[in-house]
Amino acid sequence: MTAPHDDERRRAELVTALGSVRARIADACAAADRDPNTVTLVAVTKTYPASDVVTLVQLGVHHIGESRDQEASAKVRDVQALLGDTPAPAWHFVGRLQSRKCRSVAAYASAVHSVDRSELVDKLARAIEANGRPPVEIFVQVSLDADPNRGGVPVDAVADLADAVAARQQLRLRGVMAVPPLGTDAEAGFARLAEISRAVRDQHPEADAISAGMSDDFEAAVKHGSTHVRVGTALLGRRRQIFS
Ligand SMILES: *Cc1c(COP(=O)(O)O)cnc(C)c1O
Repeated sequence: MTAPHDDERRRAELVTALGSVRARIADACAAADRDPNTVTLVAVTKTYPASDVVTLVQLGVHHIGESRDQEASAKVRDVQALLGDTPAPAWHFVGRLQSRKCRSVAAYASAVHSVDRSELVDKLARAIEANGRPPVEIFVQVSLDADPNRGGVPVDAVADLADAVAARQQLRLRGVMAVPPLGTDAEAGFARLAEISRAVRDQHPEADAISAGMSDDFEAAVKHGSTHVRVGTALLGRRRQIFS
């Protein structure tokens, strides 16, 4: 157990960080002439405890992102126990997804941002059918540099994967997602993702969401139409563990 004053201090830190992230989102929207309500803040809480998630939920953050199933599934249970009657947040799975984790992820995620192959479409759809949960929102993760180690489907295969998602009634095609390649101009990546999003929307008008932008670059993503910014470090602090 942490002492009460530690809890208070952590809460104050999160209040301050959340205020500054919200202000940055508002400024980015103003600069892009966009309504701030069109940008959803997904707080990426990987490596941070359930107590931080609960504090964020109490502060009005309703979208929580996680990138590893093992950590996430335990945290989901802990958060629900701590929240009691308070409605649970929507859990977004944002990390690389192994096919053998689909069943577990389908038990708690309301959105998966990292679908990059048809095997995941099949496995997620079947898991949702079996567990009877409402359709899961799906973002097709695009590889902007075609590096297979970083996840994402190559640009020329996005359309087919989007079709495969849209064909499943257990899944709801929401849009596209990307992480700009390391060492490249993030803004150019977001501009490219916006083009890819337009092509997907030509075929699937409902898939109008773009998951793009992290702590260091979400202003540029908002400028290029991001509807879901995935923010960890700027809200919770620097992580000890290194995540790919
Ligand atoms: C960790 C992570 C984030 C958050 O990154 P920060 O730089 O800490 O804001 C966003 N998206 C994905 C896919 C992540 O794994």
